[in-house]
Amino acid sequence: MSIAENIISIKKELPSHVQLIAVSKTKPVSMLQEAYNAGQRLFGENYVQEIVEKQPLLANDIEWHFIGHLQSNKVKYIAPFVKCIHAVESEKLLAEINKQAVKNNRSIECLLQIHIAEEESKFGFNPENAIAEISKIDFSKYPNITINGVMGMASFVDDQDQVKREFQSLKQIFDALKKECFATSSSFKEISMGMSGDYKMAIEEGSTMVRVGSSIFGSR
Ligand SMILES: *Cc1c(COP(=O)(O)O)cnc(C)c1O
Repeated sequence: MSIAENIISIKKELPSHVQLIAVSKTKPVSMLQEAYNAGQRLFGENYVQEIVEKQPLLANDIEWHFIGHLQSNKVKYIAPFVKCIHAVESEKLLAEINKQAVKNNRSIECLLQIHIAEEESKFGFNPENAIAEISKIDFSKYPNITINGVMGMASFVDDQDQVKREFQSLKQIFDALKKECFATSSSFKEISMGMSGDYKMAIEEGSTMVRVGSSIFGSR
């Protein structure tokens, strides 16, 4: 199937409250353009250098989502155009995003990454103390960012029960944060979870943003 057909068939299955982020890392601009021509406007990239190279080559109405691990010293490169940063895992990074957003006279959306996978290698706030840690942050110090919700990556395993448990833990943390830290926020409503292999289950467990790469663009 073509990129356009993949997008159309995935979108057909998504409930209206779920947004599709087309994860285009490592794929050439011509493929992103094909997706754009099929109506796709939200793109997700993982690497700073790559997103910075692609962004000026494509239309202005694209929403660029940075979904990879982000080092503080690289925020400045994406701050002029990035719509949403998914993998915020420390106050230090939050402060830098705010600083660069101020410099660019714009507002940047952020999601708090929670380390839901049992695997060691994934980044994010530790679920055990995420609520305590995040409660300590005074978000009013960072007026040029909005915290739109949470993001997580399940373990890369075949055990569907494990993946499901991990998605459920992210939903629980989202609910607790909403209650304890973001009760008065109208923007805290997104749960970014689910990729090509598991987005249907993620939606059943409460995802509002799925990040789909290989099912749209082919394997990497
Ligand atoms: C690569 C990646 C995806 C997309 O993965 P696919 O399995 O190709 O759909 C989603 N989220 C993150 C954070 C990624 O790095």
